[in-house]
Amino acid sequence: MLVFDCFFGRCERPSCDGCMLKPVRSLRRMLKAREMEKKAGGSEADDALKRAEAAAAAIAGAGPRKASASRKVKLLVPREEIPWYPTIKPDLCNGCGDCQVLCKAGVFEPGPPDPAGIQRPKFVVAHPERCVVLCDKCVPVCTSGGIVMPDPKSIEKYIEYVDE
Ligand code: SF4
Ligand code: SF4
Repeated sequence: MLVFDCFFGRCERPSCDGCMLKPVRSLRRMLKAREMEKKAGGSEADDALKRAEAAAAAIAGAGPRKASASRKVKLLVPREEIPWYPTIKPDLCNGCGDCQVLCKAGVFEPGPPDPAGIQRPKFVVAHPERCVVLCDKCVPVCTSGGIVMPDPKSIEKYIEYVDE
């Protein structure tokens, strides 16, 4: 049923324009946003730090350290040189737009329109340098499983953790 397709972000209509189910789309996005906030329990940077510390502890073979709001991630090279940003699998993207709406950093944008005008434009990573280092909040937002992030271990040499 269309209402379920909309709620789960699977609708394949070319656009939401004029669709009476827009409130369903809004509800879906609101629930996803709430889930993101609940998981974060703080800012994107705090959230990223907690994950980074847990990853670092796991790599070092120690138990997870207690995250502290006073510890921050410091970038050791310019942001553009750090390969931390999402990748979208085009075959899985249905153009729902949730990633664009829910990523506060403004990383995603719609790609070119479908020449046949049948499908929504697939989204692209238009501004990778805006992605918050170690954030991965958009991965669960994409219910199609179309967003992939790099392995945190791959950027260890570019960052360190500092007490404020
Ligand atoms: S990447 Fe996922 S969340 Fe973003 S538009 Fe495509 S299907 Fe939607
Ligand atoms: S990981 Fe995703 S949600 Fe977080 S800043 Fe990067 S693109 Fe946005």
